[in-house]
Amino acid sequence: MADMLGHAYRHAYAVGAFGVVTLDFLEAIIKAAENFRAPVILNLAESHFGYYDFDLLAPAAVAAARRASVPVAIHLDHGQSLESAERAIRSGFSGVMVDCSDRLFEDNLRLTREVVALAHAGGVTVEGELGYVPGGEGENAENLSQEFEYTSHAEAKVFVARSRVDCLAVSIGTRHGRMKGAPKLDYARLAKINEAVGMPLVIHGGSGLSDEQFRKLIANGVAKINYYTALSDLAVRHIRDNPSIGDNGYMALKRSIREAVSAEVERCIRLWGSGGRAAEVLEQCRAAVEVQA
Ligand SMILES: [Zn+2]
Repeated sequence: MADMLGHAYRHAYAVGAFGVVTLDFLEAIIKAAENFRAPVILNLAESHFGYYDFDLLAPAAVAAARRASVPVAIHLDHGQSLESAERAIRSGFSGVMVDCSDRLFEDNLRLTREVVALAHAGGVTVEGELGYVPGGEGENAENLSQEFEYTSHAEAKVFVARSRVDCLAVSIGTRHGRMKGAPKLDYARLAKINEAVGMPLVIHGGSGLSDEQFRKLIANGVAKINYYTALSDLAVRHIRDNPSIGDNGYMALKRSIREAVSAEVERCIRLWGSGGRAAEVLEQCRAAVEVQA
């Protein structure tokens, strides 16, 4: 995943990290990536593990990644412990994030270093997070009591150097979940962080941002965009807005949802510039198995 993100960073585009919660989402994301010859990241968030069986969905994601004709990374999003990271690595993930961003700087750094030691030993990429992005994946983000904690470029520089993470999630105004209207983003802050760390940056809470906002984020070093709530809402809306969707049975309903999710993933791929990059990425980047060997 680090190689993939490095390529995106150097060529000023972003790879979508789309939230996988069912086989339908998995198939829809892979299909869109193959249609547009795009590298793609499958994001499995620990906050969703109560809603599906990890031991069934994770192998399916690995099988899909192996079979795909485009480069696919599998990433643990917001892992809650070192044990979670270990489980993901053993399951064949190519990237992990253990979320320590709600802790004090020194604690975040210490825990992240432990994750890095574990993951790098197995050739697995680590995403660190500095600053706090409030909200929950797929939930309402209005009237949150949690406060933003914006990322500081000076702290980011120290954090990256000392933790040796491969990419860094930043807090510059996005929120997890659903919002009314687009949030206000601090591009000046993002530009300073990018200058200070010079590595792929990650945006959490990509749902609901405008095309223009995405372009500016990517122009300032964002190479990975986490995107789930919009896909989840779209699937629900698709069922609600099509009262006859179940008339031809459950399988037809599922296919219809897959197509709707796939269309949105394709829109993101076009907008974020990852389309058509698969061949170059495959040529220039090491496969996860190669790194792990
Ligand atoms: Zn997140």
